Amino acid sequence: MHKQAGFMKALRCRECGREYPLTASHVCEFDFGPLEVVYDYDQIKRTLTRANLQTRPQTMWRYRELLPVAGEPTVGRQVGFTPLVRADRLARRLGLRELWIKNDTVNYPSLSFKDRVVSVALSRARELGFDTVACASTGNLANSVAANAAAAGLKAYVFIPADLEQGKVVNSLVYGAEVIGIKGHYDEVNRLCAEIAGKYGWAFVNVNMRPYYAEGSKSMGFEIAEQLGWTLPAHTVVCMASGSLLTKIHKSYQELVKLGLVQATPYRIHGAQATGCAPIATAQKAGLDFFKPVKPNTIAKSLAIGTPADGFYALKVMKETGGVADDVTDDEIREGIKLLAECEGIFAETAGGVTVGVAKKLIAAGRIPADDSAVLCVTGNGLKTLDAVAGHVGQTREIRPSLREFEGLLEAEAKPATHA
Ligand SMILES: *Cc1c(COP(=O)(O)O)cnc(C)c1O
Ligand SMILES: [Zn+2]
Repeated sequence: MHKQAGFMKALRCRECGREYPLTASHVCEFDFGPLEVVYDYDQIKRTLTRANLQTRPQTMWRYRELLPVAGEPTVGRQVGFTPLVRADRLARRLGLRELWIKNDTVNYPSLSFKDRVVSVALSRARELGFDTVACASTGNLANSVAANAAAAGLKAYVFIPADLEQGKVVNSLVYGAEVIGIKGHYDEVNRLCAEIAGKYGWAFVNVNMRPYYAEGSKSMGFEIAEQLGWTLPAHTVVCMASGSLLTKIHKSYQELVKLGLVQATPYRIHGAQATGCAPIATAQKAGLDFFKPVKPNTIAKSLAIGTPADGFYALKVMKETGGVADDVTDDEIREGIKLLAECEGIFAETAGGVTVGVAKKLIAAGRIPADDSAVLCVTGNGLKTLDAVAGHVGQTREIRPSLREFEGLLEAEAKPATHA
């Protein structure tokens, strides 16, 4: 094993299998296939055991052998191991025997699952000698890059669509990152970033660092299995932007099986999108292997990627595991946010509303059978997308600071609605 590589062996093209050194690169020179990190699983098996894991801190880095850094992580060492919440009240509302919420709304430090991918990408970027990091983002990635770069003393440039939610913009600016709003959709932001990445010597977490970055998503799947007592859930529902998280949850389950940490029980991975940007779900429902790009128009801005980089592979994972996809309208997204909040006390952003809304549909349609068990991946915090639900969640009643007025209010509300 090479000293500089930790448990990694190489980058390998997903299409032709050609191998590349472990540098900041993401596409195969021959067929433009995406590069993926290859590991030495025999070596990993020796140290990544259930017994060893019991002695490790409760962060995503407890699975460090399966994360692509050569040495010890230096950025985001506290990230991950978010709660897996048994959601009995929501289960009853949706008509399912057993339901769990993987709650990444409280991930550290920037309140979304993106802290997982960013801590890996920035730790690796430092190992490769970068001092400036950057990203093309639908919002949460920008927040996480800005926060983690600040804590690590790295310079950060984040590129976002100019029309993002206020909460997401402020959440990037406050850390002192250079925030560039692009007048266009995410797909145009992404295209520009590919050009910039080629010209400047920066570590773009989801462009030239993408092979490392994407691996960070696996930690969500490792945690789910461990928190379920080293078993795989029969159903996992994942919201999709580029589709990367969905594919990496599948990879995480497969790696745990390969290492003998869980039994190879059948599982299905289902994908969730917003109707206003559902290229992957539309293809899945039509039984196609390829998606058709779309122009996004949805309140779920964090998922608004019309040309999803991993859409093809996400479709493949759903096909292989027997999973399906579906999509929900903006109203159903708000309903999903409220349902989760009212039943479980968890305030998710629009992406969480997508996951809950789609899970509801899949259960109603029998795609997730009522006597089964499911995990919903809830990936971002509702405080960042207040604009999406403001005006749809009821209203405060204002009174003067007087007991009489308060009791008058209670009395008025106790009266039947017909009393005018
Ligand atoms: C980025 C993101 C996702 C999923 O992203 P993929 O590109 O599909 O990996 C899901 N939820 C939230 C809140 C996100 O910010
Ligand atoms: Zn190739």
